[in-house]
Amino acid sequence: MEKVIIIGSGPAGHTAALYAARANLEPLVFEGYEPGGQLTQTTLVENFPGFPEGIMGPDLMEKMKEQAVRFGARYKATEVQRVDLSRRPFTVEAGGETYEAQTLIIATGASAKWLGVPGEKELVGRGVSACATCDGFFFKERHVIVVGGGDSAMEEALFLTKFASKVTVVHRRAELRASKIMQQRAAANPKIEFVWNSVVERINAGDNGMVKSVTLKDVNTGETREFPCDGVFVAIGHQPNTAFLQGQLELDAAGYIITRDGTKTSVPGVFACGDVQDPVYRQAITAAGSGCMAAIDAERFLEANS
Ligand code: NAP
Repeated sequence: MEKVIIIGSGPAGHTAALYAARANLEPLVFEGYEPGGQLTQTTLVENFPGFPEGIMGPDLMEKMKEQAVRFGARYKATEVQRVDLSRRPFTVEAGGETYEAQTLIIATGASAKWLGVPGEKELVGRGVSACATCDGFFFKERHVIVVGGGDSAMEEALFLTKFASKVTVVHRRAELRASKIMQQRAAANPKIEFVWNSVVERINAGDNGMVKSVTLKDVNTGETREFPCDGVFVAIGHQPNTAFLQGQLELDAAGYIITRDGTKTSVPGVFACGDVQDPVYRQAITAAGSGCMAAIDAERFLEANS
């Protein structure tokens, strides 16, 4: 019987593990299919306090994990398939085994959204990607497009300028959603240009089976045109990783876990932190902060219910 099981290993999961470990709760962490979470897909993190020169995303995650392990957190590089929250102790099925826990902290984060247009799925790995850090290297001296107008899109576009000869940001409106500083950086980069008020209708392959163009539609005029490019980076936001929780606790219409009074979910003894319950801030530092809160909430719950 575990006192605390933590599902997820981004900044929220690691911080929850650190605090739970320091409270002698010996947390067991299931790292999931992407240990370290979204920050392992990024490069330099410049806005996590304490690192004035910035720190690489994967390094930050590794350091957080090391810190939690130092105080007794245990990690399993396994994905959770199923949970049963209908009674306590809760059960968690992972890697073919069943675990029991008095409390559960869910920190499964969010994953990149896709456009859902023809050609996209088929061409993933053949010019279509949702991760410039992972795949940017393959586009040396090529022309790529980035779809989206938020901070992620600007970050992807800026990163891609290290490799690509040209980066075209395709945005569905005439105004970016990104923060001012990211907008300014993108606008100042000579390799980046913008196509406004446009959506990708389909992604087209050449004879070699690789991306050769996208079909763009002007949302104002309805006109379509073929726009040649070698790569398509989709950066249109994220969806929470809650499919395995359907019907078990209260989620909002977009699938985010609803938390009240700190990190409490609709099931007493189950707490949620990080991007899986936060459609608003979604920062590494806010995720870490809520991970700390979840561990404290779990500790207090155990004290009150043992
Ligand atoms: P986001 O802020 O939700 O932006 C998503 C963008 O994609 C929006 O511009 C949106 O258009 C567009 N979009 C959504 N669905 C689309 C579709 N089906 N077709 C075409 N365009 C679509 O998501 P994000 O950029 O991933 O950022 C999420 C959070 O992480 C934000 O809080 C952001 O500040 C933070 N973040 C920060 C940094 C940083 O500080 N360096 C880096 C990355 C992310 P509309 O604008 O028209 O809605």
